[in-house]
Amino acid sequence: DTIRIVSGYSDLIVMRHTEIGAARLAASVATVPVINAGDGAGEHPTQALLDVYSIYKELGGIDGIHIAMVGDLANGRTVHSLSYMLANYKNVHIHYVAPENVRIPIEVKRYLVEKGVSFEESSDLLKVAEQVDVLYQTRIQKERFLSLEEYEKASGKYTIDETVLEHMREKSIILHPLPRAGEILASVDNDPRAAYFRQAVNGLYMRMALIDKCLRQI
Ligand code: ASP
Repeated sequence: DTIRIVSGYSDLIVMRHTEIGAARLAASVATVPVINAGDGAGEHPTQALLDVYSIYKELGGIDGIHIAMVGDLANGRTVHSLSYMLANYKNVHIHYVAPENVRIPIEVKRYLVEKGVSFEESSDLLKVAEQVDVLYQTRIQKERFLSLEEYEKASGKYTIDETVLEHMREKSIILHPLPRAGEILASVDNDPRAAYFRQAVNGLYMRMALIDKCLRQI
């Protein structure tokens, strides 16, 4: 009922919700476009749009890139959407680096297999850092854990610091959907490869473009 009422009051709904599938459910009754702005640990498609745009802008293209997604790959919705989106490009290779209790979900892996995207899971961040064009770091999603003990098992395992920087290629970038919670040291921020604040600005333009596109379709 809330969505039906809000549909009557507005031209567009941008919805962030704690439950997986909430935006899809809303869209099934809304009479205006619904943008999923994050549904729990599910997806975050507008972040994936700006992430892909950021890679394109920073590196000049998407086809053929090697990307590492690091951190909370189970609960981090941005890595789910980014993985799905990258399946639209050619010869992308994904390295997943996660603590044991927050590895990339099976449904994401199934999708990649179906689409013929090559990927691997690894626990050695330094070794992976040497091989990639994009290091996509994420926050351990504290709010999704059922106990502090489980959170602590995942937290603090993979941090981007000077040592990681030394292992990275000269022409590579570090992305992060932000906010960070200690997994990229502030001392990394001045390195030209630290692209996360430029990435955040791209989010503004990407969402302006998306809203414009939705409103023109009315
Ligand atoms: N801002 C991102 C999200 O909404 C990433 C995060 O919160 O860690 O999913």
